[in-house]
Amino acid sequence: MRYLFTLLFTLTLLQTMAQSPEITFSTKKGTDREKEVIPKVQEILNKYDLTKWVFTDKIIIEAFAIPHSHPVLTLNTKPQSQDELLSTFLHEQIHWYVDENKSSEQKAIAEFKKKYKNVPFGNREGAKDEYSTYLHLIVCYLEFKSMVDLVGEERAEKVMRDTNHYTWIYETVLKDRKSIGKTLAKNKLNLVD
Ligand SMILES: [Zn+2]
Repeated sequence: MRYLFTLLFTLTLLQTMAQSPEITFSTKKGTDREKEVIPKVQEILNKYDLTKWVFTDKIIIEAFAIPHSHPVLTLNTKPQSQDELLSTFLHEQIHWYVDENKSSEQKAIAEFKKKYKNVPFGNREGAKDEYSTYLHLIVCYLEFKSMVDLVGEERAEKVMRDTNHYTWIYETVLKDRKSIGKTLAKNKLNLVD
């Protein structure tokens, strides 16, 4: 009986803790502001099973940095909702996934170049250069689909619509989600089906 109770208790514990892989955190300057972000990310890792999305297990928190993926996944201290932080985490991890699938990336981008002739870049609508805008059609689409998987379509769309960067990219991802999804599936960028 006692054994059964212990077993049930353990199973309940396992169910409430999502099984995300362990992440090693560090901070750029060690300020309280930076340290405060660590439990926020940890909360997300406990809440959702992010096994499928962890491609790098090191994260650095740096105040005022623009979040980026390489060489070390970097998040900033900007006040944001849990859904926004989750979405940023997924976005940067997805960069690692796409990087590991270079030939698929290049084939998908070649198709996007035919479909979207003049893409914005070097401003809020696009990424830093033309190639990066095309690349972000992949990354932001997978980010959106991952969010749909984890929090549902409505909340996923809200996060995408509320961003004030990559605005053309997110709009295009939402508007052309079917055709972008097809291009990615065809080129085996099927992290999220
Ligand atoms: Zn990016």
